[in-house]
Amino acid sequence: LKGAALLQNGVLSKGTAYTEQERAELGLRGLLPPVPSNIRLQAEAMIEQLRSFDTPYQKALFLDGLRAANETLFFRLVMDYVEEILPLVYTPTVGEVCQKYSHLYRFPRGLFLSIEDKGHLDELIANAPQQEVDMIVVTDGQRILGLGDLGVNGMGIPVGKLGLYTACAGVDPRRTLPVTLDVGTDTERYLSDPLYLGHKHKRVSGKEYDDFIEEFFQAVHKRWPSCVVQFEDFGNNHAFDLLERYRSRYCCYNDDIQGTASIVVAGFFSAMKAKNSRLSDEKILFLGAGEAATGVANLIAAAMTETGISREDALSRLYLFDSKGLVTSGRETLARHKAPFAKDLEPCTDFEECIRRIRPTAIVGLSAQSGAFTESVVKAMAEINERPIIFALSNPTSKAECTAEQAYTWSDGRALFSCGSPFSPVTYKGKTFVPRQGNNSYVFPGIGLGAILGRCKELGEDVFLSAAHTCADMVTPEDLAQGSLYPSLTRVRDISLAVAVNIIKLALRNGTAQIEQPADIVQYVKDRMYVPDYE
Ligand code: NAP
Ligand code: MN
Repeated sequence: LKGAALLQNGVLSKGTAYTEQERAELGLRGLLPPVPSNIRLQAEAMIEQLRSFDTPYQKALFLDGLRAANETLFFRLVMDYVEEILPLVYTPTVGEVCQKYSHLYRFPRGLFLSIEDKGHLDELIANAPQQEVDMIVVTDGQRILGLGDLGVNGMGIPVGKLGLYTACAGVDPRRTLPVTLDVGTDTERYLSDPLYLGHKHKRVSGKEYDDFIEEFFQAVHKRWPSCVVQFEDFGNNHAFDLLERYRSRYCCYNDDIQGTASIVVAGFFSAMKAKNSRLSDEKILFLGAGEAATGVANLIAAAMTETGISREDALSRLYLFDSKGLVTSGRETLARHKAPFAKDLEPCTDFEECIRRIRPTAIVGLSAQSGAFTESVVKAMAEINERPIIFALSNPTSKAECTAEQAYTWSDGRALFSCGSPFSPVTYKGKTFVPRQGNNSYVFPGIGLGAILGRCKELGEDVFLSAAHTCADMVTPEDLAQGSLYPSLTRVRDISLAVAVNIIKLALRNGTAQIEQPADIVQYVKDRMYVPDYE
């Protein structure tokens, strides 16, 4: 590619960074401002621009435009200012971007596969500009963050998520593919919105849906046999079944279920260090019993059994509270994912009442019920526990069960707190707490990188436990002293590297890796991490 066409190619273009010599060779003389720049100066200019916008939403649109113009520079910026930019390219801002997606659509990105295209997915996949794809993130838009059914507007999620695989773990962006499956939407306001860009019919489900997903998997793996597929933001009615159906057939996983589980378990490992106790002594009450909560509960059970207790004992320490109240075995119907945690107890529909009855050591909010951890809930936890564990993990910020400030002030500064969306440090009675996000971004990028580079056949529970241990091991005593249960996000590339390395080691040990044992695994991974510099 040469001349204007090269400059218009966002994947290849270096923008103003072409040298005099390159400009001469590539037919670019006169097409750029005369004095060559470099990526460092370009990034300096772009961060200045970024900061000139008032709202996160405007910033996100600016970044989206930058990415279209110069992907390398975009990733340079995300990596150099990771804490500042992650909330703009992913949660919470991505939620707003998705809701407005059809109204702001400008740049072609990713692949849209409609149920109307059934029988022809091979052809559509062949249209993807990527020749080789290592990783796909796929959604059907049914349950985007805590925002519900956004239909094709959900495309912001696989795009944003793959951006994080690159920024946080160095997964090569030119070998990733965001996919949105359009199976309709049940959201009335989209069905009646003339600007909505998806097909305007209700969601298809049942056999037609299942066949479509099957065709998708087969078509993808026919083209790219070892492509890792990550499910994202599918509704409860499909997420568990799809994972069950495909987890041992292909290298795939569901980040809402398994990635969340991994990062929340990491938070528990840190909390155990902070209060100097054992996970198997905890009693945990979840607010929410969906993909995230049951995913976490399952992995905590596995982590508890690592310390020697039986799975049965572990399950007995884990309680779920859903939209109908405490999940009890007396219920007439009980979804399969909730059943293992149902307790032989009286029904209870008041969360605070449940706390007083069960006396948990930890409450974990994964319910998208904003404000559900009220002052009296937090105070009840602080009465029962010296160091109550309070995780308010729902996203986006508007859905959080409580804020960091509330958790610290209402517990008299004793809560071990983590959150789903970012909160600023809180000073209470002269002590400054630095709450950190139980952000999946600490683990899923490294899991993806490990899965790709280990050419893993499948990803078992041990993979997600391994990532949790790796992340928790990177929390320093200084982090814990200021109330942080996670490392600083600025270290995310190192964390991802460690996560990937440990997963490859694990996969080599248990025979799921389809690579030869590298002489030096750390070097093997490092050498293959994408770095946003001009080649
Ligand atoms: P989900 O599968 O839809 O589950 C939501 C759960 O909340 C369901 O079990 C639902 O009950 C329950 N619920 C609804 N209203 C309730 C109420 N009034 N009281 C108690 N429970 C109620 O969604 P998800 O994937 O698990 O995600 C849930 C939230 O967690 C979202 O806000 C998401 O953003 C957040 N999340 C955060 C992280 C993170 O920070 N790392 C990761 C993943 C998810 P029913 O089962 O009865 O419908
Ligand atoms: Mn998600």
